[in-house]
Amino acid sequence: MQDRKRSFSPGTSEIFWCRKCNLPLLSEDCSLCHSTGWRIPLSPPGDVRLCSRRGRDLLRELFLQNWGVEDFLDDRLILLNKIAGTDRRDQVILEGRHIATLWFDITVDRHRLDLEIAGAALLKERAKKNLVVCDDTILKGHIKGKWLAGDQIVSQPPSLEEGDSLVLRIGKFSGVGIVRRKYEAQAIRIKDVTQRDFVLSDRPTTLKDTILANEEHLKRLEREAIAGLRDYLSRSRLPVNISFSGGKDSLASLILARKLMPRIEVLFINTGLEFPETVEYVQKLCSDHKLRLHEI
Ligand SMILES: [Zn+2]
Repeated sequence: MQDRKRSFSPGTSEIFWCRKCNLPLLSEDCSLCHSTGWRIPLSPPGDVRLCSRRGRDLLRELFLQNWGVEDFLDDRLILLNKIAGTDRRDQVILEGRHIATLWFDITVDRHRLDLEIAGAALLKERAKKNLVVCDDTILKGHIKGKWLAGDQIVSQPPSLEEGDSLVLRIGKFSGVGIVRRKYEAQAIRIKDVTQRDFVLSDRPTTLKDTILANEEHLKRLEREAIAGLRDYLSRSRLPVNISFSGGKDSLASLILARKLMPRIEVLFINTGLEFPETVEYVQKLCSDHKLRLHEI
């Protein structure tokens, strides 16, 4: 009988950050300045990618709605790391730090943003909304999970909405507070506090520099992949084709395969559930590169 209890556990997932160049790295060494990157652990499964223009617009909108500020996102590289959740759920990483978690709330049919501790440090002096100024007497003893008492609050937003993330300014410390119902009224529960500041780098980040900073690692991956393909092709007598779905991963596979077989045949499985743009893209790419396409 098959072992039904066998489970899969993903490996550790991480990226690195070059603090000197202010760029993300897939491996420890920066190809631009040759310094060693600072390790950023990622929550599993660890599918980190660059935030698209549309994703950036969504983040701007949510930061503005929640904390009245969004200009700190200008000209900065944002990374999103997909994590487990009922629907969409992404860790938002800015300058190597997890500032917020973006998720889609199916109960209210909209995206939401949960602030993380690094995000609170970033917004401590910037937030124009959802900011709570606290008395530093709350810093005594264990504070995580504690409720904020009325006399510890110097100022707070005029109204509190269940589930909202609030920026706490506590002297030199910053924290995240969550609005929760306590008895009959809404109250603020402390999620976390930190003394660590978040000073944004003056160095602008570009996609071009990101690629250059990762060049040696990417080239090494490419060499390994091509060696593996070459080895397979030398042993196989069967016809070879490349399965292409129109996504980023299969596009990378297609580019690698073409380095060894420029006229490779392409197989596209049209499930019937594809977006029309995907089907159009697959067909156009094959026609532009004069590749024979088998659509099934
Ligand atoms: Zn560097």
